[in-house]
Amino acid sequence: MIIAKSAKDLDKMRAVGELIAEVRESLRTMVKPGISTMDLNDAADKMIRDAGAIPTFIGYHGFPYAICASVNDEIVHGFSKKDPLKEGDIVSLDMAATFNGFVGDCAMTVPVGGITDELKQLIRVTEECLELGIQASRVNGRVGDIGWAVQQHAEKFGYGIVRDYTGHGIGRQMHEAPQIPNHGRAGTKEKIRAGYCFAIEPMLNLGTAETKTLSDKWTVVTLDGKPSAHAEHTLAVTLDGPEILTLTREQKKLRNAARTETVPA
Ligand code: MG
Repeated sequence: MIIAKSAKDLDKMRAVGELIAEVRESLRTMVKPGISTMDLNDAADKMIRDAGAIPTFIGYHGFPYAICASVNDEIVHGFSKKDPLKEGDIVSLDMAATFNGFVGDCAMTVPVGGITDELKQLIRVTEECLELGIQASRVNGRVGDIGWAVQQHAEKFGYGIVRDYTGHGIGRQMHEAPQIPNHGRAGTKEKIRAGYCFAIEPMLNLGTAETKTLSDKWTVVTLDGKPSAHAEHTLAVTLDGPEILTLTREQKKLRNAARTETVPA
């Protein structure tokens, strides 16, 4: 069953969304050659707890860290490590917090120092796919519209679209119905209603879409060893359109200003 959130619930989703977005933006500024994913994990853990929230990932089916840190060919669910990140790496940082009983979940892929144009494009297109998936999240639309929006853009670039992992409904639980695949056909699957909250999270690979899981039972990597990028937001579907919840207050202002500018007089 898909749970539509009440106005009160949505206020709590907004609060936790903003909280985890602040953590994400702090981590973004910390990523540089020499820092380890364990340093980033520890910083995220502290920020989330200092804000009075709980790092949702810790203990989730036994997951041991506050963030998932997935470097280069790691797609998702990577373990934090003490090895320093190196110039030219890309790192996906996925994080979630629980606050006042509701969960906010987001991820970004960040360059470590200078990276190749090929990797810059992979990250950019992954973010564009996320944005297109968000824009496809409309009242009376269908979940298949989201997957289609992501797929048709990713395929223009020949990227492998990971099918083994999907986005998801979100609310009091991190993972609620429905599953939100990053591929699909418009007009298919569940009908979207006001109050639904989704975490949309395209995972795009430079090579094959095929994945395998490492012996740590968590870290998912590309089968061909080529790099992968990941981006995620939590959003609410409202009668006015999709509302991204995992933005900082500053980012919301900028986004609203940009939208006002594009509205014809
Ligand atoms: Mg998620």
